[in-house]
Amino acid sequence: MELTAEQEAILRTVREFVDKDVLPTVAKYDRSDEFPQPLYEQMVEMGLFGITIPEEHGGLGLDLMTYALVVAELSRGWISLSGILNTHFMAAWMIQNFGTEEQKQNLLPLMATAELRAAYSMTEPGAGSDVQSIRTTAKRTEDGGWRIDGQKMWSTNGLRSSIIMLLAVTDASANPRHKGMTAFIVRKEPGVQHQPGLTIPPNLKKLGYKGVETTELVFDDYRVPAYAVLGGEAGIGQGFKYFMAAVELGRVNVAARAVGVARCAFELAIRYAQERQTFGRKIAQHQAIQMKLAQMGTQIRAAELLTFDAARRKASGERADLEAGMAKLYATEAAQFCAIEAMRIHGGYGYSQEYMVERLYRDAPLLILGEGTNEIQQLLIARRLLELHAV
Ligand SMILES: Cc1cc2nc3c(=O)[nH]c(=O)nc-3n(C[C@H](O)[C@H](O)[C@H](O)COP(=O)(O)OP(=O)(O)OC[C@H]3O[C@@H](n4cnc5c(N)ncnc54)[C@H](O)[C@@H]3O)c2cc1C
Repeated sequence: MELTAEQEAILRTVREFVDKDVLPTVAKYDRSDEFPQPLYEQMVEMGLFGITIPEEHGGLGLDLMTYALVVAELSRGWISLSGILNTHFMAAWMIQNFGTEEQKQNLLPLMATAELRAAYSMTEPGAGSDVQSIRTTAKRTEDGGWRIDGQKMWSTNGLRSSIIMLLAVTDASANPRHKGMTAFIVRKEPGVQHQPGLTIPPNLKKLGYKGVETTELVFDDYRVPAYAVLGGEAGIGQGFKYFMAAVELGRVNVAARAVGVARCAFELAIRYAQERQTFGRKIAQHQAIQMKLAQMGTQIRAAELLTFDAARRKASGERADLEAGMAKLYATEAAQFCAIEAMRIHGGYGYSQEYMVERLYRDAPLLILGEGTNEIQQLLIARRLLELHAV
Protein backbone atom coordinates (compact mmCIF):
# COMPACT_ATOMS: atom_id res chain seq x y z
CA MET A 1 0.00 0.00 0.00
CA GLU A 2 1.37 3.40 -0.94
CA LEU A 3 1.17 5.81 1.96
CA THR A 4 1.78 9.54 1.95
CA ALA A 5 4.55 10.97 4.12
CA GLU A 6 1.89 12.31 6.49
CA GLN A 7 0.22 8.89 6.82
CA GLU A 8 3.61 7.27 7.41
CA ALA A 9 4.46 9.81 10.10
CA ILE A 10 1.25 9.41 12.06
CA LEU A 11 1.36 5.62 11.80
CA ARG A 12 4.95 5.56 13.03
CA THR A 13 3.97 7.70 16.02
CA VAL A 14 1.01 5.45 16.88
CA ARG A 15 3.07 2.28 16.40
CA GLU A 16 5.75 3.58 18.78
CA PHE A 17 3.07 4.55 21.30
CA VAL A 18 1.58 1.03 21.13
CA ASP A 19 4.95 -0.73 21.49
CA LYS A 20 6.38 1.53 24.17
CA ASP A 21 3.38 2.59 26.25
CA VAL A 22 0.38 0.35 25.50
CA LEU A 23 1.60 -3.23 25.27
CA PRO A 24 3.67 -3.08 28.48
CA THR A 25 0.76 -1.66 30.54
CA VAL A 26 -2.42 -3.05 29.00
CA ALA A 27 -2.65 -6.08 31.33
CA LYS A 28 -2.86 -3.79 34.37
CA TYR A 29 -5.78 -1.76 32.95
CA ASP A 30 -7.53 -4.82 31.55
CA ARG A 31 -7.44 -6.72 34.84
CA SER A 32 -8.61 -3.81 36.96
CA ASP A 33 -11.09 -2.63 34.30
CA GLU A 34 -9.62 0.83 34.85
CA PHE A 35 -9.89 3.74 32.41
CA PRO A 36 -6.39 4.20 30.96
CA GLN A 37 -6.08 7.91 31.76
CA PRO A 38 -2.35 8.29 30.85
CA LEU A 39 -2.82 6.46 27.53
CA TYR A 40 -5.92 8.52 26.80
CA GLU A 41 -3.97 11.73 27.46
CA GLN A 42 -1.28 10.65 25.03
CA MET A 43 -3.95 9.96 22.40
CA VAL A 44 -5.29 13.49 22.93
CA GLU A 45 -1.73 14.84 22.65
CA MET A 46 -1.25 13.02 19.33
CA GLY A 47 -4.37 14.73 17.99
CA LEU A 48 -6.22 11.46 17.45
CA PHE A 49 -9.58 12.84 18.63
CA GLY A 50 -9.51 15.32 15.76
CA ILE A 51 -7.88 13.05 13.23
CA THR A 52 -10.66 13.31 10.63
CA ILE A 53 -12.05 16.69 11.71
CA PRO A 54 -11.22 19.31 9.02
CA GLU A 55 -8.31 21.63 9.70
CA GLU A 56 -10.63 24.66 9.50
CA HIS A 57 -12.34 23.23 12.62
CA GLY A 58 -9.09 22.54 14.46
CA GLY A 59 -8.55 18.88 13.48
CA LEU A 60 -5.85 17.13 11.48
CA GLY A 61 -8.16 16.80 8.44
CA LEU A 62 -6.98 13.29 7.54
CA ASP A 63 -9.13 10.80 5.64
CA LEU A 64 -10.91 7.59 6.57
CA MET A 65 -8.07 5.51 5.18
CA THR A 66 -5.62 7.07 7.64
CA TYR A 67 -8.15 6.62 10.43
CA ALA A 68 -8.51 2.91 9.60
CA LEU A 69 -4.72 2.45 9.58
CA VAL A 70 -4.44 4.18 12.95
CA VAL A 71 -7.29 2.10 14.41
CA ALA A 72 -5.60 -1.14 13.30
CA GLU A 73 -2.37 -0.02 15.00
CA LEU A 74 -4.12 1.05 18.21
CA SER A 75 -6.07 -2.22 18.34
CA ARG A 76 -2.89 -4.23 17.94
CA GLY A 77 -2.20 -2.77 21.38
CA TRP A 78 -5.73 -2.83 22.83
CA ILE A 79 -9.16 -2.55 21.21
CA SER A 80 -10.44 -0.52 24.15
CA LEU A 81 -8.27 2.40 23.00
CA SER A 82 -10.00 2.41 19.64
CA GLY A 83 -13.30 2.08 21.57
CA ILE A 84 -12.57 5.33 23.41
CA LEU A 85 -12.00 6.98 20.05
CA ASN A 86 -14.60 5.38 17.83
CA THR A 87 -17.94 6.71 19.11
CA HIS A 88 -16.32 10.16 19.17
CA PHE A 89 -15.14 9.77 15.59
CA MET A 90 -18.60 8.67 14.43
CA ALA A 91 -20.38 11.52 16.21
CA ALA A 92 -17.88 14.05 14.81
CA TRP A 93 -18.34 12.62 11.32
CA MET A 94 -22.13 12.97 11.65
CA ILE A 95 -21.84 16.60 12.76
CA GLN A 96 -19.40 17.33 9.96
CA ASN A 97 -21.61 15.73 7.31
CA PHE A 98 -25.14 16.45 8.53
CA GLY A 99 -24.79 19.25 11.10
CA THR A 100 -25.72 22.88 10.62
CA GLU A 101 -22.93 25.42 10.16
CA GLU A 102 -23.48 26.57 13.74
CA GLN A 103 -23.20 23.01 15.08
CA LYS A 104 -19.96 22.49 13.17
CA GLN A 105 -18.44 25.78 14.32
CA ASN A 106 -19.48 25.33 17.95
CA LEU A 107 -18.73 21.67 18.48
CA LEU A 108 -16.03 20.39 16.13
CA PRO A 109 -13.14 22.55 17.47
CA LEU A 110 -13.88 21.37 21.02
CA MET A 111 -14.21 17.78 19.82
CA ALA A 112 -10.89 17.97 17.94
CA THR A 113 -9.08 18.61 21.23
CA ALA A 114 -11.28 16.13 23.18
CA GLU A 115 -12.50 18.95 25.39
CA LEU A 116 -15.86 17.49 24.42
CA ARG A 117 -15.94 13.72 24.02
CA ALA A 118 -18.84 11.95 22.33
CA ALA A 119 -20.79 8.71 22.72
CA TYR A 120 -23.07 7.28 20.05
CA SER A 121 -26.32 5.76 21.24
CA MET A 122 -28.85 3.93 19.19
CA THR A 123 -29.24 0.52 20.90
CA GLU A 124 -31.93 -0.09 23.54
CA PRO A 125 -32.74 -3.01 25.85
CA GLY A 126 -35.36 -4.23 23.35
CA ALA A 127 -33.77 -3.05 20.09
CA GLY A 128 -30.28 -3.88 18.83
CA SER A 129 -30.21 -5.33 15.32
CA ASP A 130 -33.77 -4.11 14.78
CA VAL A 131 -33.02 -0.40 15.14
CA GLN A 132 -36.44 0.59 13.81
CA SER A 133 -38.06 -0.75 16.96
CA ILE A 134 -36.40 1.75 19.32
CA ARG A 135 -38.79 3.40 21.79
CA THR A 136 -36.93 6.37 23.24
CA THR A 137 -38.99 9.42 22.42
CA ALA A 138 -38.25 13.10 21.96
CA LYS A 139 -41.26 15.40 22.19
CA ARG A 140 -41.42 19.13 21.54
CA THR A 141 -41.87 21.31 24.59
CA GLU A 142 -43.65 24.64 24.80
CA ASP A 143 -40.37 26.58 24.75
CA GLY A 144 -39.47 25.01 21.39
CA GLY A 145 -37.00 22.56 22.93
CA TRP A 146 -37.34 18.78 23.35
CA ARG A 147 -38.08 16.39 26.19
CA ILE A 148 -36.37 13.00 26.01
CA ASP A 149 -37.71 9.85 27.68
CA GLY A 150 -36.54 6.27 27.37
CA GLN A 151 -33.72 3.87 28.02
CA LYS A 152 -30.60 3.28 25.96
CA MET A 153 -28.35 0.23 26.29
CA TRP A 154 -24.69 -0.52 25.59
CA SER A 155 -23.56 3.05 25.23
CA THR A 156 -19.77 2.99 24.93
CA ASN A 157 -18.22 6.07 26.58
CA GLY A 158 -21.68 6.71 28.06
CA LEU A 159 -20.37 8.08 31.35
CA ARG A 160 -17.28 10.13 30.47
CA SER A 161 -18.70 11.73 27.33
CA SER A 162 -20.11 15.26 27.26
CA ILE A 163 -22.10 14.62 24.08
CA ILE A 164 -24.37 11.73 23.26
CA MET A 165 -25.33 11.39 19.62
CA LEU A 166 -28.78 9.96 20.27
CA LEU A 167 -31.42 8.38 18.05
CA ALA A 168 -35.00 8.98 19.22
CA VAL A 169 -38.54 8.66 17.90
CA THR A 170 -40.05 12.07 17.16
CA ASP A 171 -43.09 10.86 15.24
CA ALA A 172 -44.45 7.51 16.43
CA SER A 173 -47.13 7.50 13.71
CA ALA A 174 -44.62 7.64 10.84
CA ASN A 175 -44.85 4.86 8.30
CA PRO A 176 -42.29 3.45 7.75
CA ARG A 177 -41.17 3.92 11.34
CA HIS A 178 -37.67 5.10 10.48
CA LYS A 179 -39.08 8.28 8.92
CA GLY A 180 -40.20 9.33 12.39
CA MET A 181 -36.72 9.19 13.91
CA THR A 182 -34.39 12.10 14.62
CA ALA A 183 -30.77 12.39 15.73
CA PHE A 184 -30.03 14.62 18.72
CA ILE A 185 -26.76 16.07 19.91
CA VAL A 186 -27.43 15.66 23.62
CA ARG A 187 -25.11 17.61 25.92
CA LYS A 188 -24.55 16.37 29.47
CA GLU A 189 -22.11 16.64 32.36
CA PRO A 190 -19.23 14.20 31.79
CA GLY A 191 -18.57 11.63 34.52
CA VAL A 192 -21.79 12.36 36.45
CA GLN A 193 -24.14 9.43 37.10
CA HIS A 194 -27.16 11.42 38.24
CA GLN A 195 -28.21 14.69 36.66
CA PRO A 196 -31.70 16.11 36.23
CA GLY A 197 -33.54 13.83 33.79
CA LEU A 198 -30.63 11.46 33.16
CA THR A 199 -29.37 8.53 35.19
CA ILE A 200 -26.36 6.47 34.18
CA PRO A 201 -26.33 3.19 36.11
CA PRO A 202 -22.98 1.56 37.03
CA ASN A 203 -20.90 0.36 34.08
CA LEU A 204 -22.02 -2.88 32.46
CA LYS A 205 -19.73 -5.80 33.37
CA LYS A 206 -18.24 -7.27 30.20
CA LEU A 207 -16.24 -10.34 29.20
CA GLY A 208 -13.53 -8.18 27.63
CA TYR A 209 -13.25 -4.70 26.11
CA LYS A 210 -12.33 -3.51 29.60
CA GLY A 211 -11.18 -0.07 30.61
CA VAL A 212 -13.66 1.74 28.36
CA GLU A 213 -17.05 2.05 30.01
CA THR A 214 -20.24 0.79 28.40
CA THR A 215 -23.41 1.97 30.11
CA GLU A 216 -27.16 2.22 30.10
CA LEU A 217 -28.64 5.71 29.81
CA VAL A 218 -32.00 6.32 31.46
CA PHE A 219 -33.75 9.46 30.27
CA ASP A 220 -36.73 10.72 32.24
CA ASP A 221 -37.89 14.16 31.14
CA TYR A 222 -34.40 15.19 30.03
CA ARG A 223 -34.56 18.60 28.38
CA VAL A 224 -32.52 19.66 25.37
CA PRO A 225 -32.77 22.91 23.39
CA ALA A 226 -34.14 23.20 19.84
CA TYR A 227 -30.62 23.39 18.37
CA ALA A 228 -29.84 19.90 19.68
CA VAL A 229 -31.45 18.43 16.55
CA LEU A 230 -28.65 17.28 14.25
CA GLY A 231 -29.02 19.28 11.05
CA GLY A 232 -31.57 21.68 12.59
CA GLU A 233 -35.22 21.69 11.45
CA ALA A 234 -34.21 19.96 8.20
CA GLY A 235 -32.81 17.07 10.25
CA ILE A 236 -36.15 16.16 11.83
CA GLY A 237 -37.12 12.70 10.56
CA GLN A 238 -33.64 12.11 9.07
CA GLY A 239 -32.03 10.50 12.11
CA PHE A 240 -32.24 6.89 11.02
CA LYS A 241 -30.59 7.75 7.72
CA TYR A 242 -27.81 9.69 9.48
CA PHE A 243 -27.16 6.88 11.94
CA MET A 244 -27.07 4.21 9.24
CA ALA A 245 -24.53 6.25 7.26
CA ALA A 246 -22.36 6.40 10.37
CA VAL A 247 -22.75 2.66 10.97
CA GLU A 248 -21.27 2.04 7.54
CA LEU A 249 -18.18 3.97 8.64
CA GLY A 250 -18.29 2.05 11.89
CA ARG A 251 -18.04 -1.19 9.94
CA VAL A 252 -14.78 -0.13 8.33
CA ASN A 253 -13.60 0.85 11.79
CA VAL A 254 -14.55 -2.51 13.33
CA ALA A 255 -12.83 -4.32 10.48
CA ALA A 256 -9.69 -2.26 11.18
CA ARG A 257 -9.91 -3.13 14.86
CA ALA A 258 -10.16 -6.79 13.92
CA VAL A 259 -7.04 -6.49 11.75
CA GLY A 260 -5.23 -5.09 14.80
CA VAL A 261 -6.39 -7.87 17.14
CA ALA A 262 -5.52 -10.55 14.57
CA ARG A 263 -2.06 -9.05 14.00
CA CYS A 264 -1.37 -9.03 17.72
CA ALA A 265 -2.50 -12.68 18.07
CA PHE A 266 -0.30 -13.66 15.13
CA GLU A 267 2.77 -11.81 16.42
CA LEU A 268 2.44 -13.47 19.82
CA ALA A 269 1.83 -16.91 18.31
CA ILE A 270 4.67 -16.90 15.79
CA ARG A 271 7.14 -15.71 18.43
CA TYR A 272 6.01 -18.31 20.98
CA ALA A 273 6.11 -21.07 18.36
CA GLN A 274 9.82 -20.36 17.88
CA GLU A 275 10.55 -20.38 21.62
CA ARG A 276 8.57 -23.31 23.01
CA GLN A 277 10.05 -26.79 22.59
CA THR A 278 8.27 -30.13 22.67
CA PHE A 279 9.63 -33.54 21.71
CA GLY A 280 13.09 -32.06 21.25
CA ARG A 281 12.24 -29.36 18.76
CA LYS A 282 10.65 -25.92 18.52
CA ILE A 283 6.89 -26.29 18.14
CA ALA A 284 7.19 -24.12 14.98
CA GLN A 285 8.85 -27.15 13.41
CA HIS A 286 5.74 -29.29 13.92
CA GLN A 287 3.58 -29.22 10.81
CA ALA A 288 0.37 -28.93 12.85
CA ILE A 289 1.61 -25.59 14.21
CA GLN A 290 2.88 -24.46 10.80
CA MET A 291 -0.57 -25.02 9.34
CA LYS A 292 -2.10 -22.83 12.00
CA LEU A 293 0.44 -20.07 11.29
CA ALA A 294 -0.24 -20.35 7.55
CA GLN A 295 -4.00 -20.03 8.09
CA MET A 296 -3.58 -17.07 10.43
CA GLY A 297 -1.17 -15.24 8.13
CA THR A 298 -3.36 -15.80 5.09
CA GLN A 299 -6.55 -14.68 6.81
CA ILE A 300 -4.84 -11.56 8.16
CA ARG A 301 -3.56 -10.65 4.70
CA ALA A 302 -7.05 -11.08 3.23
CA ALA A 303 -8.60 -9.11 6.10
CA GLU A 304 -6.13 -6.24 5.56
CA LEU A 305 -6.83 -6.10 1.83
CA LEU A 306 -10.61 -6.12 2.29
CA THR A 307 -10.49 -3.55 5.09
CA PHE A 308 -8.17 -1.03 3.52
CA ASP A 309 -9.89 -1.39 0.14
CA ALA A 310 -13.24 -0.56 1.81
CA ALA A 311 -11.63 2.37 3.64
CA ARG A 312 -10.07 3.69 0.43
CA ARG A 313 -13.38 3.45 -1.44
CA LYS A 314 -15.32 5.14 1.32
CA ALA A 315 -12.65 7.86 1.63
CA SER A 316 -12.85 8.60 -2.09
CA GLY A 317 -16.63 8.99 -1.90
CA GLU A 318 -17.48 5.79 -3.77
CA ARG A 319 -20.39 3.66 -2.62
CA ALA A 320 -18.82 1.14 -0.24
CA ASP A 321 -21.60 -0.54 1.74
CA LEU A 322 -20.94 -3.96 0.21
CA GLU A 323 -17.17 -3.70 0.65
CA ALA A 324 -17.48 -2.38 4.21
CA GLY A 325 -19.85 -5.23 5.10
CA MET A 326 -17.57 -7.86 3.57
CA ALA A 327 -14.53 -6.38 5.33
CA LYS A 328 -16.35 -6.33 8.67
CA LEU A 329 -17.59 -9.90 8.29
CA TYR A 330 -14.31 -11.38 7.13
CA ALA A 331 -11.88 -9.44 9.32
CA THR A 332 -13.82 -9.99 12.54
CA GLU A 333 -14.17 -13.73 11.93
CA ALA A 334 -10.42 -13.77 11.17
CA ALA A 335 -9.71 -11.99 14.47
CA GLN A 336 -11.81 -14.52 16.37
CA PHE A 337 -10.04 -17.37 14.55
CA CYS A 338 -6.57 -15.93 15.20
CA ALA A 339 -7.33 -15.35 18.90
CA ILE A 340 -8.26 -18.98 19.48
CA GLU A 341 -5.45 -20.32 17.30
CA ALA A 342 -2.94 -18.17 19.20
CA MET A 343 -4.30 -19.62 22.43
CA ARG A 344 -3.93 -23.16 21.09
CA ILE A 345 -0.37 -22.49 20.01
CA HIS A 346 0.37 -21.29 23.56
CA GLY A 347 -1.06 -24.53 24.96
CA GLY A 348 -2.03 -24.32 28.64
CA TYR A 349 -0.18 -21.03 29.02
CA GLY A 350 -2.59 -19.43 26.57
CA TYR A 351 -5.31 -19.97 29.16
CA SER A 352 -3.32 -18.14 31.81
CA GLN A 353 -3.81 -14.47 32.56
CA GLU A 354 -0.02 -14.19 32.50
CA TYR A 355 -0.15 -14.32 28.70
CA MET A 356 -1.69 -11.70 26.45
CA VAL A 357 -3.53 -14.16 24.23
CA GLU A 358 -6.02 -14.74 27.06
CA ARG A 359 -7.14 -11.11 26.74
CA LEU A 360 -7.39 -11.30 22.96
CA TYR A 361 -9.65 -14.32 23.35
CA ARG A 362 -11.99 -12.21 25.54
CA ASP A 363 -11.77 -9.06 23.35
CA ALA A 364 -12.25 -10.61 19.90
CA PRO A 365 -15.93 -11.70 20.19
CA LEU A 366 -17.07 -8.11 20.61
CA LEU A 367 -16.07 -7.52 17.02
CA ILE A 368 -18.38 -10.19 15.65
CA LEU A 369 -21.29 -8.68 17.62
CA GLY A 370 -20.76 -4.91 17.35
CA GLU A 371 -21.75 -2.51 14.52
CA GLY A 372 -24.25 -5.06 13.26
CA THR A 373 -23.80 -8.72 14.17
CA ASN A 374 -22.15 -10.92 11.58
CA GLU A 375 -25.49 -12.64 10.97
CA ILE A 376 -27.04 -9.29 10.02
CA GLN A 377 -23.91 -8.47 8.04
CA GLN A 378 -24.44 -11.53 5.87
CA LEU A 379 -28.06 -10.55 5.22
CA LEU A 380 -26.95 -7.09 4.07
CA ILE A 381 -24.19 -8.49 1.87
CA ALA A 382 -26.59 -10.96 0.28
CA ARG A 383 -29.22 -8.26 -0.31
CA ARG A 384 -26.69 -6.09 -2.15
CA LEU A 385 -25.31 -9.02 -4.15
CA LEU A 386 -28.84 -9.91 -5.25
CA GLU A 387 -29.38 -6.30 -6.34
CA LEU A 388 -26.15 -6.34 -8.34
CA HIS A 389 -26.86 -9.72 -9.93
CA ALA A 390 -30.63 -9.45 -10.43
CA VAL A 391 -31.92 -11.56 -13.33
C1 LIG B 1 -19.50 -4.04 24.40
C2 LIG B 1 -20.56 -3.47 23.53
C3 LIG B 1 -20.50 -2.14 23.19
C4 LIG B 1 -21.53 -1.57 22.42
N1 LIG B 1 -21.49 -0.23 22.15
C5 LIG B 1 -22.56 0.35 21.54
C6 LIG B 1 -22.62 1.78 21.37
O1 LIG B 1 -21.68 2.51 21.71
N2 LIG B 1 -23.74 2.31 20.82
C7 LIG B 1 -24.79 1.54 20.43
O2 LIG B 1 -25.78 2.11 19.94
N3 LIG B 1 -24.75 0.18 20.54
C8 LIG B 1 -23.67 -0.42 21.09
N4 LIG B 1 -23.63 -1.79 21.24
C9 LIG B 1 -24.79 -2.58 20.84
C10 LIG B 1 -24.53 -3.51 19.66
O3 LIG B 1 -24.45 -2.79 18.48
C11 LIG B 1 -25.70 -4.53 19.67
O4 LIG B 1 -25.48 -5.37 20.80
C12 LIG B 1 -25.75 -5.34 18.41
O5 LIG B 1 -26.19 -4.54 17.35
C13 LIG B 1 -26.71 -6.55 18.53
O6 LIG B 1 -27.93 -6.18 19.07
P1 LIG B 1 -28.57 -7.03 20.27
O7 LIG B 1 -27.52 -7.18 21.30
O8 LIG B 1 -29.85 -6.40 20.68
O9 LIG B 1 -28.86 -8.45 19.65
P2 LIG B 1 -30.24 -8.96 18.83
O10 LIG B 1 -30.57 -7.91 17.85
O11 LIG B 1 -31.24 -9.23 19.91
O12 LIG B 1 -29.73 -10.25 18.18
C14 LIG B 1 -29.65 -11.52 18.87
C15 LIG B 1 -29.19 -12.59 17.87
O13 LIG B 1 -30.17 -12.72 16.82
C16 LIG B 1 -29.54 -12.51 15.55
N5 LIG B 1 -30.50 -11.83 14.67
C17 LIG B 1 -31.25 -10.73 14.94
N6 LIG B 1 -32.03 -10.44 13.89
C18 LIG B 1 -31.73 -11.34 12.92
C19 LIG B 1 -32.20 -11.57 11.58
N7 LIG B 1 -33.08 -10.76 10.99
N8 LIG B 1 -31.69 -12.61 10.90
C20 LIG B 1 -30.75 -13.43 11.45
N9 LIG B 1 -30.28 -13.27 12.71
C21 LIG B 1 -30.78 -12.24 13.42
C22 LIG B 1 -28.33 -11.64 15.86
O14 LIG B 1 -27.34 -11.78 14.83
C23 LIG B 1 -27.87 -12.25 17.18
O15 LIG B 1 -27.16 -13.43 16.91
C24 LIG B 1 -22.59 -2.38 21.97
C25 LIG B 1 -22.61 -3.76 22.29
C26 LIG B 1 -21.62 -4.29 23.06
C27 LIG B 1 -21.69 -5.76 23.42
